[in-house]
Amino acid sequence: MTFTPYSGDRYWDYPEIVSWCYDLAKALPEWISIKELGRTANDNPIVLIIIGKDPDHTPMFWLDAGTHASEWTGVMAAIFSLSAWGETLHTPEGQSWFSNNSIAVLPCISPDGYQHLREGGHFVRSSLRPPLSGTERIGLDAQDITGDGHIRWMRWKHPAGPYCLDPNAAMGLRKRTLHDDPENAFFLSMEGVFLEWDGASWKQAALKHGIDLNRNFPVHWKPFSMFGMDAGMYPLSESESRIATEAITQLPQVCAALSNHTYTGALLTQPYHPDPDLGDVDIQLMEELAEQSVSGTDYRVIKVYPDFAYDPKKRIIGVWADFLSSNLGIPAYTLELWNPFSWAGIEMTDPASFFGHPDPKIIAAMMTKACQEECKEWEMITHPQLGSVEVGGFTYLTTIRNPPEQLLREECRKGLQIANNIRSALPKITIQTETTALENGWYTLSIILENHGFLSTTSTLRAEQLQLAKSPTLTIVPNQGPSPTTQRMDVLEGWGTGLYKQNPIYASIGGRSCRGIGSWVVQKGKYTISWDAGRAGSGTVEVLVS
Ligand SMILES: [Zn+2]
Repeated sequence: MTFTPYSGDRYWDYPEIVSWCYDLAKALPEWISIKELGRTANDNPIVLIIIGKDPDHTPMFWLDAGTHASEWTGVMAAIFSLSAWGETLHTPEGQSWFSNNSIAVLPCISPDGYQHLREGGHFVRSSLRPPLSGTERIGLDAQDITGDGHIRWMRWKHPAGPYCLDPNAAMGLRKRTLHDDPENAFFLSMEGVFLEWDGASWKQAALKHGIDLNRNFPVHWKPFSMFGMDAGMYPLSESESRIATEAITQLPQVCAALSNHTYTGALLTQPYHPDPDLGDVDIQLMEELAEQSVSGTDYRVIKVYPDFAYDPKKRIIGVWADFLSSNLGIPAYTLELWNPFSWAGIEMTDPASFFGHPDPKIIAAMMTKACQEECKEWEMITHPQLGSVEVGGFTYLTTIRNPPEQLLREECRKGLQIANNIRSALPKITIQTETTALENGWYTLSIILENHGFLSTTSTLRAEQLQLAKSPTLTIVPNQGPSPTTQRMDVLEGWGTGLYKQNPIYASIGGRSCRGIGSWVVQKGKYTISWDAGRAGSGTVEVLVS
């Protein structure tokens, strides 16, 4: 049995994703396993794929996607990466890497929302959780009333409208000025109908499915509401966030993590707040790794605080990547794939401002580009409540939110490149044995562990502080000599940990070593030494002392 590689040529529906993942695991059973972690409210399976010969004893990289229903590129980039890694298993290099390391992939955290949007449903942030019980949904609700499988825009002429006809503007409308003729004024909304309509009021209804799973994780959680979205009733109130959390906490070898999203073309790193939980060393280490990980792409690194905060005065709450870093001590990043700004020819220096205080010139450039890609001309229809309205416009999900299909492969490649860069930073243990003859048939048997990886054997200081990653131990069997059976060593430093402060003028090898030693006084014989370097893996070596 073989699997068909995914080339990044088109977006897939969720059932296709799941069946492809099962085929991949079936094609390479000695390397790849797949597990159903649970089912969603709509009975979609949430699956976890693990690649590696020995995932329980090797350092692991974690990749996930699909926390946000509309961010299809992230999901497809995860599949593209899985496919590429599956193909490398046909090469000696790939087999060697996956014998000594492993990767866990959760390709879609919120499949209900993902598939709902694939089928042309109304906008949902993450899942299809019903609105909170106190939500009054009165007003315009986005719906596909023309039945073309897309929710587009709707406009109707009215002297109180805030838009104005302009043949030179994208979709033929621009913001109204005081000098415009009221006869040319329009209302512009998403295509939809009014819920509980009183026959007169024109206002927007609250989002039907506003839960944002990326605000539902147990890190600085508090009740939250923004743009009609909420963080759930309490941290991990949602089955999808619980499933993801339980999955990663059952994988103690995870040393680094990447969560695929869209859009901006950026890798987001710590800190998340001016008073972060992570210490300076971990924050600098993560920034250094982020900078090195975007190499080979045109993406840039953005610190969530202060550069990606919608409101710098408010702490971003409940974010998955922050939870992984702050609470589990895993260097974890949000990857915002796809840069619609540069696609539209704009240099975007302050992406967060685009969501809070958008620059009309930037909006116009993006809409113009999106309309060139795919745009339905305004068409007069009879609206069930408003009478004559026009419906038209571009396809948001495959222009601004995700690339048009013909550009998807390029974004998938960037996602793979960054994932490959980060996985190359995992700690890497090598072992040397030495025996020295003493007097009267006794010998010194020494085992030296070295870490050749970028990350330390605990991957962060935070993981050590939280006692979530252990320092290495060596255990000898049998032990007939005077030295203790188990010997401990300090955490083995990675070459990347202090890289941010390396200054060859004031060269220093730092206060912690990448090498450690354990020694026993033994007699001739055969010994088994088990080593356990925590997140960096574990194993045994056989030594014959003769
Ligand atoms: Zn997202």
